[in-house]
Amino acid sequence: MSDTRLARRPGIGSRLSVSFEFFPPKSDEMETKLWETVQRLQPLDPRFVSVTYGAGGSTRERTVRTVGRILKDSRLTPAAHLTCVDATREEVDRVIDEFTELGVRRFVALRGDPAEGVGAVYRPHPEGYTNGAELVAAIRRKGDFDVSVSAYPEKHPESPDFATDIDMLKRKVDNGATRAITQYFFDNDLYERYVERARRAGIYIPIVPGILPVHNFGQVARFSAGCGAHVPSWLADRFEGLENDPKTHSLVAAAVAAEQVLDLVERGVSEFHFYTMNRADLAFAICHLIGVRSEENRPQMVSQAAA
Ligand code: FAD
Repeated sequence: MSDTRLARRPGIGSRLSVSFEFFPPKSDEMETKLWETVQRLQPLDPRFVSVTYGAGGSTRERTVRTVGRILKDSRLTPAAHLTCVDATREEVDRVIDEFTELGVRRFVALRGDPAEGVGAVYRPHPEGYTNGAELVAAIRRKGDFDVSVSAYPEKHPESPDFATDIDMLKRKVDNGATRAITQYFFDNDLYERYVERARRAGIYIPIVPGILPVHNFGQVARFSAGCGAHVPSWLADRFEGLENDPKTHSLVAAAVAAEQVLDLVERGVSEFHFYTMNRADLAFAICHLIGVRSEENRPQMVSQAAA
C-alpha cells in the first residue's frame, strides 16, 4: 500500500519554499559566525533572507551594513526589517531610501516594541508612523516593493481580542502588504485557526508560519511570555533536565521542530520562515527533512508519487 502522507512524497521539497531570518551581528566574531550560516544556507535557495532592525533603530547601521553585504557577497535576496519606534516619518523615509539605494526591494514592516522594552505602553513618536499599517503605506508610496508584515496566531499581547488583531492585519494588507510572517508558535492548531479567521475576514495574502528551532529552551521560555507565544507544558517536558546537556538538547530541538514542520506540510503549508538566531544547523536539518535541499542533494522527482 502506498504512503499517502504529503511530507513523504518524493519531490515534495520542490513545491516548498523557505526564508531565513538573521539579526545584525554586534562583533567581528558574530559576523564571522553569521557569514558561515549564510554560506551554509545559501545552497537551499531561500526565497529571501531577512535582517532584523533593533529597538528604536539601535541597529540601523548594522542592519544596513548586513543587508548591503548580503547583496554584495552572496546570491541571496535580502529583506530589510524596519520599525516605527522613536523616529519621525522623515527619518523612517530616509532609511527606506537608504535601503532602496543599496538595491533592496523587499521589506518587513513593523511597528516595533517600546524602547523601554516589551510590556511597556507603546507611545508612537508624535511625528512618526503609529503602526505597521502606516509603515506599509509609506514603503509602498516609494515603489512597488514586496512588503511582509507580522501576524500573531495567538494574537498580539496588545490586541484586546482576535477581531482587533485581524483588523490590524487587514489594514496592513489594504495598505499593500504582500505576505504576513507569523510570530513563532508551537501549536499548529492555533496557526490553522488564525489563518481561517484571516480568510473569513477577506485576507488572502500568504500567512507564512514563523518557525523557531529551540536552540535554548530556557531563553525561549523567558522571552515567550512577553511576545504573545505560549509555551505548552508538553514542550517544557521535552526539554526538562537538558540545561547542561547541549547535545541532547539539540537533538530534541531538531525532533520537535521537524515534527511541527512535517505536520504543517501535511496541513498543506508550502512556505516557511525560520528564525535562525544566526545558526544554520537546526534550520538546515529541518529543510533537509522536508526535501528543501541544494541542487546536488535534491531527491529525484518521481512523477507518479508526486502526482
Ligand atoms: P502592529 O501590527 O502595528 O500592531 C500590533 C498589534 O497592536 C495590533 O494587532 C493591534 O491589535 C495593536 N495596535 C497597534 N496599533 C493600534 C491602534 N492604533 N489601534 C488599535 N490597536 C492597535 N521587532 C523589532 O523591533 N525589530 C524587528 O526586526 C522585528 N521583526 C519582527 C518580525 C516578525 C515576523 C514578527 C512577528 C515580529 C517582529 N518584531 C520585531 C516584533 C514586533 O515589533 C512587536 O511584536 C511589536 O510589539 C508589534 O509590532 P507589529 O508591527 O506587529 O505591530
